[in-house]
Amino acid sequence: MQEDTYRHKGLRRKLVDSLRKKGITDERVLAAIEAVPRHFFLDSAFADLAYEDKALPIEREQTISQPYTVAFQTQLLDLQKRDRVLEIGTGSGYQAAILGQMGARVFTVERQEQLFLEAKKLLATLGFTNVRCYFRDGTKGLREFAPYDKIIVTAGATEVPQTLLDQLSIGGFMIIPVGVRLQKMLRITKKSETDYVEEDFGAFRFVPFIGGTESK
Ligand code: SAH
Repeated sequence: MQEDTYRHKGLRRKLVDSLRKKGITDERVLAAIEAVPRHFFLDSAFADLAYEDKALPIEREQTISQPYTVAFQTQLLDLQKRDRVLEIGTGSGYQAAILGQMGARVFTVERQEQLFLEAKKLLATLGFTNVRCYFRDGTKGLREFAPYDKIIVTAGATEVPQTLLDQLSIGGFMIIPVGVRLQKMLRITKKSETDYVEEDFGAFRFVPFIGGTESK
């Protein structure tokens, strides 16, 4: 395991300042970003870039989202302590760690077995007992633990999956980037079993949300 030095902590404080300047206002989100060592979630070759506000490559041609995007999606989630949150797209596990740091009960799903195994191990090593990892096709959600108060999708979907909406509790919502090359960040609130309200929070770019799983 890499070390978390004073230098890393200093870089995180600077990153948090820059996120504040870019419009992130939720202090709980900023505190979580300041607390979680993002460089642990990257290959050591990229450790020096960990505290730049950039998306970076991880295994299996995937990416760890840009810190601004993580902060933006997490702020939209408006987490309450003990919220049950389903994340689709564990990737490096960093977003799941941020949610765990904020006290949510996190269920995170990844379709790439290698990423699932690495994230699960790292999150356990870091002591995130409130984050549970699953190797699954997230287009199907995670039915056995539904309903969820909140769902966050961290891959770009071409359409809103009804299966995921079905796994939300009434009054709950999903944050999901939807679109083909560029995605609109949507918040979809479930008002009743049949009524949903959709809000658009602007353009982002994500790796694609795809069905099926890939074993190691
Ligand atoms: N939240 C991640 C971002 C990873 S990028 C992080 O903090 O690092 C998006 C991830 O979604 C990729 O790892 C990709 O493999 C995964 N993904 C794409 N489609 C998926 C699906 N149907 N089910 C589960 N994971 C999926």
